[in-house]
Amino acid sequence: MKFKLKKLKLQWKVFAYMLGFCGLLLFILWLFQTVFLNDMYKYIRKKEIKNAMELVEENINSPNLQTILQYLSDNKDILITPTNEFKPPQPNINRDKRDRHTMEVITETKEFKLQNNKTISLTFNAMITPVSATIDTLRYQLYIITFIMITLSIFLAFLIAKRVAKPIEVINDSAKALSKGKYDIEFTGEGFLEIEELSATLNTAATELSKVESLRRELMANISHDLRTPLSLIYSYAEVMHDFPKEISPEQTKVIMDETTRLTSLVNDVLDISKLENGKQTLNLTSFNLTNSIIETTNRISSLVKKDGYSLSFLYNEEVYVTADEVKIIQAFYNLLINAINYSNDNKLITIKQTVIGNVVKIEVIDNGEGILDEDLPYIWDRYYKVDKSHKRAITGTGLGLSIVKKIMEMHGGSYGVDSTLGEGSTFWFILNKN
Ligand code: ADP
Repeated sequence: MKFKLKKLKLQWKVFAYMLGFCGLLLFILWLFQTVFLNDMYKYIRKKEIKNAMELVEENINSPNLQTILQYLSDNKDILITPTNEFKPPQPNINRDKRDRHTMEVITETKEFKLQNNKTISLTFNAMITPVSATIDTLRYQLYIITFIMITLSIFLAFLIAKRVAKPIEVINDSAKALSKGKYDIEFTGEGFLEIEELSATLNTAATELSKVESLRRELMANISHDLRTPLSLIYSYAEVMHDFPKEISPEQTKVIMDETTRLTSLVNDVLDISKLENGKQTLNLTSFNLTNSIIETTNRISSLVKKDGYSLSFLYNEEVYVTADEVKIIQAFYNLLINAINYSNDNKLITIKQTVIGNVVKIEVIDNGEGILDEDLPYIWDRYYKVDKSHKRAITGTGLGLSIVKKIMEMHGGSYGVDSTLGEGSTFWFILNKN
């Protein structure tokens, strides 16, 4: 079976790495303490002799020479004798007793110039304590260190794993709950900056998801409500026609037709926004007479709502041509106009204004209706957003109208907006480049 480090739990992985690191450390320690110890020791002693030679050279004529020689003998174990008096040093008896290994000596000779132009030759003897006994000690020490290191590695691996893996596990559990639709879950990873950032990001994602989810639920509730009402009306009138075919009145068929229109516009809205949001819709750009198109649409709607007391007027100075997707621009305008009618309350006067400013054209739809609260203004362009959830409208609204306007304007690179005062009315506008 192939051993895969990749799939190990974090704590075992940390442990494996720590063990590897300890192994390397111990190996280096072993190399230096046993294999190279003798050579290194000799190297260091030779270096010490060299330093001693330099020190003696500097002070050869100094009155301190005696002190220096004493110092080198006491502290550095370097014995300095005139070469002619030099006898190969006898291994120290006491030391030899302690240590059954033979003692080694490094000997180097150098000539020094005296003040009176004479020269003196001095021999430097550095004792080398045998290291084989030390190596045995060090080996035992290495065993103990290895044991301590492995124990420490296990301990540290668990500690690190606990500090690192635990918050990740907690986040993972929360994420699993989130994926099952528990949107109110809170990510509480802490201990590391990265973990805290991840938690914060996931919390934002969860909040966004829950917003989308509640909007989706709201939309489903709205749509099913808006679908059920016309459908039940259509059904009951169709039932009457079925049971009493001779008593069909034009009003009854009109209701069926109107309700069918409502249903169609609702379904179209939902389809439109999903197409626009998918990015699957492309613009069919043509140069067209915007002023004429607005007149036509206004007239069409005006004739529909005139009987309910609405008065629509269009103010313009000139005919303006734009290059845009005519169907979509008119749809955006239509949505604004329908909203103006829907939210106009008792004052049923609606004004449409076309203004040319430089090389752009501004279309405003002005109503004197209920207006919008300042705090709601930033949200009305969001999908499914409705200020008053139970608003009874003349024409079915899905909370999608303005988000369709927004999408269309964004696709055209146009700007859009609203100025509104609660109780006084609203002015919705959009601006396009004119030809
Ligand atoms: P809806 O189908 O609810 O009208 P819209 O996206 O068209 O959806 O509008 C979003 C919300 O903005 C509406 O629910 C309404 O509260 C508010 N709104 C839009 N137009 C007007 C207006 N002319 N006057 C007052 N409020 C408006």
